[in-house]
Amino acid sequence: MTAREKLKGLCLLLAAVLLLCAGCAQPAPGNGAEPAATEARAPQNEVMPEETEPAPEPTPELTEAPDYAPQVVSSFMNYWSVGDYANMVSLCSVTWTGKKDREQAVSAMTELLEDRMPVSFEVTKVDGTNADLRRDARVTAQISKSGGPVQKYQFKLKVVWENNFWYIDPSGLRSYAGTPTPTARVIEVTQPPTPAPIDDPNTLLYYNPDGGKRYHLDPYCRTANERNLPFKGSFTFAELNNAEYADLIPCQICGAPRRPKK
Ligand SMILES: [Zn+2]
Repeated sequence: MTAREKLKGLCLLLAAVLLLCAGCAQPAPGNGAEPAATEARAPQNEVMPEETEPAPEPTPELTEAPDYAPQVVSSFMNYWSVGDYANMVSLCSVTWTGKKDREQAVSAMTELLEDRMPVSFEVTKVDGTNADLRRDARVTAQISKSGGPVQKYQFKLKVVWENNFWYIDPSGLRSYAGTPTPTARVIEVTQPPTPAPIDDPNTLLYYNPDGGKRYHLDPYCRTANERNLPFKGSFTFAELNNAEYADLIPCQICGAPRRPKK
């Protein structure tokens, strides 16, 4: 038995040696052949870069002109929400301003608005298209008169095409100037203001130091581009009137508190 086992062991050893020799012998011709193969491929590789740089195809441009009307309405409402009547007037159509000079127009606007100010607003729809000359913008706004209780209004603002741009005819704002009457377009009167007035000097406000125009109450305000969130800059309500924040306007959407009068 032991002799047979020894013989078996020798046979296995012999087989292993033979396999090893065969393994050593085979790579030799293989190694010799490989450089030839890479040499053959080399010219192809040199051509590759040219092929991988196709001329960039110009992206087809939209032929339709962008509709700026909703933006003009938003700007108008934004200026109103900070009491900037001069800039409101600059967005008004000559149909309304007529022969008034700037100063007269501002006082006409002041008269028209009767110390009403939107606390928040939403331009829900601008009827019509760029092809029209007169359009109606539908606006929903929470409006307070002389800092009093806030009421919700839905009204239309006329948007007119003049001198190649959209302008506002604010005369429709008269419909709810003064005490709400049956003719006023008051759809719904809400409970006292939803965002409670903030007077805690430690309330944190947020803004985007890289060119943001508004300050916010919500560090993740949905009006901002996601890549700017959360806002990098913040300061307290007490610091709001510091010179470096003087140009920021309150965000209507997240209910940032109004700038306190100095
Ligand atoms: Zn906001």
